[in-house]
Amino acid sequence: MKKILAFIVLAVGFVLGENAMAEGLNEAQKAIAESAIYTARGDQKGLKPALERALNAGVKLDELKEILVQSYAYCGFPRSLNALGTLMTLEEERQKRDVSSVSVTPVEGDSFINGSINQAELVGAPVTGKVFEFAPLIDRYLKAHLFGDIFSRDLLDWKTRELATVAMLSARDGVESQLKSHIEIAKNNGVTDEQIAEILALSGQIKAQNVLFGFGKENTQYAPYFIGTSYLQPLNTEGLNIANVTFEPKCRNNWHIHHKGGQILMVVAGRGWYQEWGKPAQELHPGDVVNIPPEVKHWHGAAKDSWFTHIALAVPAEGASNEWLEAVTDEEYSKLK
Ligand code: MN
Repeated sequence: MKKILAFIVLAVGFVLGENAMAEGLNEAQKAIAESAIYTARGDQKGLKPALERALNAGVKLDELKEILVQSYAYCGFPRSLNALGTLMTLEEERQKRDVSSVSVTPVEGDSFINGSINQAELVGAPVTGKVFEFAPLIDRYLKAHLFGDIFSRDLLDWKTRELATVAMLSARDGVESQLKSHIEIAKNNGVTDEQIAEILALSGQIKAQNVLFGFGKENTQYAPYFIGTSYLQPLNTEGLNIANVTFEPKCRNNWHIHHKGGQILMVVAGRGWYQEWGKPAQELHPGDVVNIPPEVKHWHGAAKDSWFTHIALAVPAEGASNEWLEAVTDEEYSKLK
């Protein structure tokens, strides 16, 4: 009986064009999320191949246009217009042009009323808030324009719109509360936890790969002393050794000691940890500077849910050396938030 049921579920999933058993992002959804992330970052170099991957995965040109138009509500007209310019250039360059168009049912009725209904349906309840009473005009624009004019268009379903919105917001700084709200809205509209996690991971990775001092190459030289994968970008090797080190989520180095010279860490991006032997771990954020005296046993690395980048500066001293010790166990590490 179970086997028959599993077969029926698989068959239904197949007919719907997606595998109902696996709830991760499919190729088209992943390319849409990447396009939304690069659009929100204003990164045309990353955007163009992402848009091409979307077209190759079967996303229609009109659907991509719609996503980039919607992006203006989350990252402003300048980035929306630049992204549309990139899509236009890509379409002109492609040998295989997308001439198919997607039909859209004309929207009837009042934008503000349509938007109020759509917003309540998206969120699961009517939306009120002190800031909307303080400035009613923004409530009007949000409802009439974003949720009325844009979300009423049936060219894209709400699931896809919310998937793109979560991707756009995750690519930006200082919009944590909006990201949190839209993760809930996305879930209300059929985006799975696994898909959300994949979007956040994609966004973290794209941000980490584009930090100011460069991502560099996989840190194979020191890999035996790390758990997880790190990336090393040497910045200066004469007189003073300076390197940009990026850790993937959960990646950390073993306990170690810098003999004679010590080390200075300057946090560039993400969230991470520094811990001295026998002391509680310190949470690290961009702008934090850690002075590690020589002979102090310690480790540093990423938080469990965040990429982490710091510049490591080796304080020069005669006969300076590093001593690598035991790994930071999963048991110790899992106690950190
Ligand atoms: Mn160190």
